[in-house]
Amino acid sequence: MQKKRILSGMRPTGKLHIGHYVGALENWIKLQDEYQNFHLIADYHVLTTDLNTDDVYQNTIDMLIDWLAAGLDPNKSPMFRQSQIKEHTELQLIFSMLITVHRLERNPTLKDQIRDLHIKHTIYGHLGYPVLQSADILLYKGDFVPVGEDQVPHVEITREIARKFNNQYGKVFPEPEPLLTRFARLPGLNGDAKMSKSLNNTILLSDEPGVVKAKLKKAVTDPQKIRKGDHGHPEICLVFSYHKKFNPDEIPEIEKDCRSGELGCFDCKMNCASKISSFLEPIIDKRKYYEDNMNEVKDILSDGEKKGRAEAQNTMAEVREKMKMG
Ligand code: SF4
Repeated sequence: MQKKRILSGMRPTGKLHIGHYVGALENWIKLQDEYQNFHLIADYHVLTTDLNTDDVYQNTIDMLIDWLAAGLDPNKSPMFRQSQIKEHTELQLIFSMLITVHRLERNPTLKDQIRDLHIKHTIYGHLGYPVLQSADILLYKGDFVPVGEDQVPHVEITREIARKFNNQYGKVFPEPEPLLTRFARLPGLNGDAKMSKSLNNTILLSDEPGVVKAKLKKAVTDPQKIRKGDHGHPEICLVFSYHKKFNPDEIPEIEKDCRSGELGCFDCKMNCASKISSFLEPIIDKRKYYEDNMNEVKDILSDGEKKGRAEAQNTMAEVREKMKMG
C-alpha cells in the first residue's frame, strides 16, 4: 500500500535550537518511516518578515545541516527550497483566485502575527501567506500536515482551496488533515513562554558543552528560591521543564529536593546542562561531519530539489489539464 504523504516545512532562520527540535524536528524524524515526507525550506515565506535576503542562503545551509545532524534522512524525505521550484508560485497564483480577501482577513493567525510583530501596514504577502502555504502543501498532494494548534486555521484554508479547485475543475487535490501530535513547547532561558532566536533566549543544537553551561547559569528560575535551603517551586521553573525533556529519570528526585531545599539552583542547572550536552553530543558530531563535507550537503539539497521539482511538475501538468490550459 502506498504511504500517505506529509508536507512539513520551516522558514530558514539559521541554526536551530532545542525548541525547534522538541516542537517539530523530533516529530518529523519519528514520522519519516511511517509516511512519505517532503521537507520544505520556506525561503520565500521569510520575505513576509524580512526583505533583506543577504543571509537566506547561509541560513538555509545551517538549517539543513541541523536537520541532517538531528536525524532527518534525505533518502527517505527529499529536502528542497521553495524558491527553486517555480511551481510553488505558479500554483499560488491560481489559488489566489479561489479565495476571497474577506476569508483571508478572518484568518486568526494573521491577526496574531500583526499583534506579535507590531506590524503597522499589512502587506499583501501577509494576507496571502496561507495561500502560498496551500500551494506548498497541495503541490505534493499532502494528506497530512504536522502542525501545532496555532497553524490549524491555515490547514483549514488549504482544505477550502483544495475543495474549491476540485469542484470547479475536477479532482486533483486531497483535502489535507492537520496531524496534531502533541507539540511540546520549551520555554526560553529568560522565562519567555517560547524559545526564539529574536529573543536571544535559546540553546542551539550546535552549542558546545561550555556554551550550554554558560547559558544555563543565567537561566531564570523560581524567583523565591534565592539560595540552597530555600523551598523551591519546580512547576514554575524553566530549568525543571528542561529536565523533564532531557533528564526524565531524575524528575522525582529533583522535584523532591527542590521543594525541600536540599537542591540548590546552581547544581540543578549544571546537572541539566550536562544532560542537554549529552543529548546534543551526537548531533554536534554529525554537524561537524557535514560542515567538513559541504559538497555532500549541497548534493543533498540539489537531489532533493530534483525530486521535489519532478513531483511539482507532475501536479502542475494535472492542474493545467483539468483547467484545459495544457
Ligand atoms: S532547584 Fe532546579 S528546579 Fe528547583 S528552582 Fe532551582 S533550578 Fe529550578
